[in-house]
Amino acid sequence: MARIGDLLAAGRTFSFEFSPPKSAAGSMSLGRTIAELEPLGPSFVSVTYGAGGSTREFTRDTVLWVRKETNIPPMAHLTCVGHTRAEINDIIDTYSSAGIENVLALAGDPPKSNDEVRPSDYAYATDLIDHLREIANLSIGVAAHPEGHPRSPDLATDRKFLAAKLQKADFAVTQFFFDLDHYLSMVNDLADLGVTKPVIPGIMPVTNIAQVERMAELSGAAFPQWLRERLESGRDAEDVRRIGVEAATELCAQLLEAGAPGLHFYTMNKSTATREIYAQLGLPVA
Ligand code: FAD
Repeated sequence: MARIGDLLAAGRTFSFEFSPPKSAAGSMSLGRTIAELEPLGPSFVSVTYGAGGSTREFTRDTVLWVRKETNIPPMAHLTCVGHTRAEINDIIDTYSSAGIENVLALAGDPPKSNDEVRPSDYAYATDLIDHLREIANLSIGVAAHPEGHPRSPDLATDRKFLAAKLQKADFAVTQFFFDLDHYLSMVNDLADLGVTKPVIPGIMPVTNIAQVERMAELSGAAFPQWLRERLESGRDAEDVRRIGVEAATELCAQLLEAGAPGLHFYTMNKSTATREIYAQLGLPVA
């Protein structure tokens, strides 16, 4: 199976993110979404890990399913939160036996309630990368936050830690953002710090204003006024969705024009918006 670091060295990647389903109905729905997206020829797909490591079995099972049932290389998200070194060894053993070589190493979101707190042997994503490098030969990605991570005291400090993290990793995938300049200034700051590893922009097509408002607040990404006004001009929910897809397509076109190494779509386990963006960008479909 392809390693994402090698794919990026060979050219642009187009990839999709999914969350692991937690019910039989969710599994069937995700299976259908993946079948609808497979003709787009994704370079890889990634599978998230729930806050505090809460979806660990679902993530593992989804990653293994993608590996077995499709021709798309999967990337497994892994978090520091709620993991001991022994647990990470077990998870990586399972993945290595199945031929899975791509991992996104993350600090992770904290658990939603105190009851779910589990011990952790790692403080930062870099600690997890160090351990992963000791135990396996993986292609390792990390998270990048174009507007800075919400826990960082300031942007310069965040960039310094991001640069140090990327030195150890093979590539990064960004949090979603809506203004091209946020991405470009992050890439420029990294270059000034001597880091030119590929940073794949994460694309979130806004199909529902309230949902993105919540997600932006949690992730530290701005939900800009210009986008809000544009979406609010929609006549009804379907029109808002159409405008959201149009805005995301414009951002993708700007990113490709600016030389981004790929595009990573936050699909929310649905295929329609991503397929529409592909069509509007004129990207090839099998
Ligand atoms: P880190 O790189 O560890 O950074 C966390 C904070 O600590 C930052 O403020 C950083 O500047 C600072 N820092 C880093 N190193 C040091 C140091 N040595 N000393 C002091 N400060 C330091 N969360 C999930 O739970 N599951 C997922 O599947 C998931 N997928 C994601 C996918 C993408 C593409 C992105 C962008 C985020 C994802 N997240 C996920 C969210 C992510 O886990 C959170 O944003 C988390 O709070 C930060 O993760 P990180 O890996 O960027 O952390």
